[in-house]
Amino acid sequence: MKKFYELEYVRPDLEVLKKNFENVIEKLDAAGTSEEAKEAILESEKLVSNLATQSTIAYIRNTMNTNDEFYDKEMEFYNNEIPKLIPVQKKYREALLNSKFRKSLEKDIGKQFFRLAEVEQKTQSEEIMDNLINEATLSTEYQKLAASCKTDFMGETCNFYGLLKYMEHTDREVRKQAYIEWAKLYENIAPELDKLYDKLIAERVCMAKKLGFDNYTSLAYLNMHRLDYTAENVENFRKQVLEIIVPFCTKLREQQAKRINVDRIKYYDEMFMYPEGNPNPSGKKENMLYSAKEMYSELSNETGEFFDFMYEHDLFDLETRPGKHLGGYCTNLADYRAPFIFSNFNGTSADVDVLTHEAGHAFEYYLASRNIKIDELCFSTSEINEIHSMTMEYFAYPWMDKFFGDKAEDYKYFHLSNSVLVIPYLVCVDEFQHRVFEKPDMTAMERRNVWRELEKKYMPWRDYDGVEFLEMGGFWMQKQHIFLYPFYYIDYALAQMGACEFYGRSKENKEAAWNDYLNLCRKGGSLGYFDLLKTSNLSNPFEEGSVEKAVKAVFNDIINGGDR
Ligand code: ZN
Repeated sequence: MKKFYELEYVRPDLEVLKKNFENVIEKLDAAGTSEEAKEAILESEKLVSNLATQSTIAYIRNTMNTNDEFYDKEMEFYNNEIPKLIPVQKKYREALLNSKFRKSLEKDIGKQFFRLAEVEQKTQSEEIMDNLINEATLSTEYQKLAASCKTDFMGETCNFYGLLKYMEHTDREVRKQAYIEWAKLYENIAPELDKLYDKLIAERVCMAKKLGFDNYTSLAYLNMHRLDYTAENVENFRKQVLEIIVPFCTKLREQQAKRINVDRIKYYDEMFMYPEGNPNPSGKKENMLYSAKEMYSELSNETGEFFDFMYEHDLFDLETRPGKHLGGYCTNLADYRAPFIFSNFNGTSADVDVLTHEAGHAFEYYLASRNIKIDELCFSTSEINEIHSMTMEYFAYPWMDKFFGDKAEDYKYFHLSNSVLVIPYLVCVDEFQHRVFEKPDMTAMERRNVWRELEKKYMPWRDYDGVEFLEMGGFWMQKQHIFLYPFYYIDYALAQMGACEFYGRSKENKEAAWNDYLNLCRKGGSLGYFDLLKTSNLSNPFEEGSVEKAVKAVFNDIINGGDR
């Protein structure tokens, strides 16, 4: 494989692709043996893999520079044209599901492959092609709008990410002003965001109706490939969070107030954990990459080999730049079996989190894709994928002195506390979305009321210090997942349960925990959610009492480290 920037990009010819798909379907129908049928399936996988690789190259390059017109056009092309492949894909899946060799194919490739195909038959239809195109266009509009937001702060032109370092400033007044500036940026675009969200809701509800679902939530669950549980199970999980985690977090906030010497934690103090400032990594990006390389080579052979591969092929874009898409992600180039990591480094500890969290995702793909032929089965659903990434954050703890020097212990306490402190917010975002799609006709103001009500339930400590836009429920707008990835957010909370369990188990027996983790990564998405949990000896977070059990070791270490 070449280095990422040397990879050639060619726009796929979709007419040729459709013809090739038709050929595969014919082969699958005409197969005389299970082997022949499997060959046809692998051929179809190759077509999908080629297409995905080109569209991912375009996506990465587009997010690297949202002002580059070429890749902007390419993304427009995919947004408009990919949904038009639905009919031929549907026909292919029909042939697959009705294959007379299905039984032996299920044994060979795994049942999960067929379960997923069955779901996609229900969620994909020619009828919703227009809605999908509209949804993608609205999502792009949202991204452009958010990326265009800039403000001058302390003599610097800042986007949302640029403001972050001031939002953790040691001077409380600077933090406060930075948050006010940040809230203003959202308030300025709020009318447009409301309109965009209204339109996104309408498209989503319309798709659910056309496909025969009672509501969009049911469709969204299937879109997320949630085959093992329902919205009721999730409600029960949120209840456990409310009972076990929210009171603990409320206490942590009180401790935090004492530590940073304020009467009460205001919203601009929430991310501020130490009076002398949060631990920031020392050193430049190159040094950090080098430290990460050393860390992964010491952690295990598997991680060492993986990170060398990333390094050698330049599969990173880490620095923040104007015009670059916000946030961080890990994606994969299927044809090359290569992950790619994108982020916006800002000099805070979040940069290290990228090198552990996103690298955890990348590591999983690297391992699974060397173990599983079918690319689709290399990634699991996100309740599992986020276990890969969040657990890697914990496994990396012993190497944190490489990044934070003598602040390593502070960082670990900071990180461990935040892993828990964020959970109430995660379930808050989740319940908000359930409420939105229960009553999709709500006005923007009604939605804000719902958000504020839920904030009070899950984050009773939250104090906006009189900032009207936020007091009125404007905070939800900063969550891009609500716009772009509906119902994704609960998966972080579910996955955190698995990661916390790994944390506890690695304290008891590191080798056994690491082997279970490797095993989970290697299995990718070849099994369903519950089965993957079982094979790596993790609890099912929907079972009564599981949340308390999962967070026990983490709670203990936070309590013990609390007087630092
Ligand atoms: Zn992640």
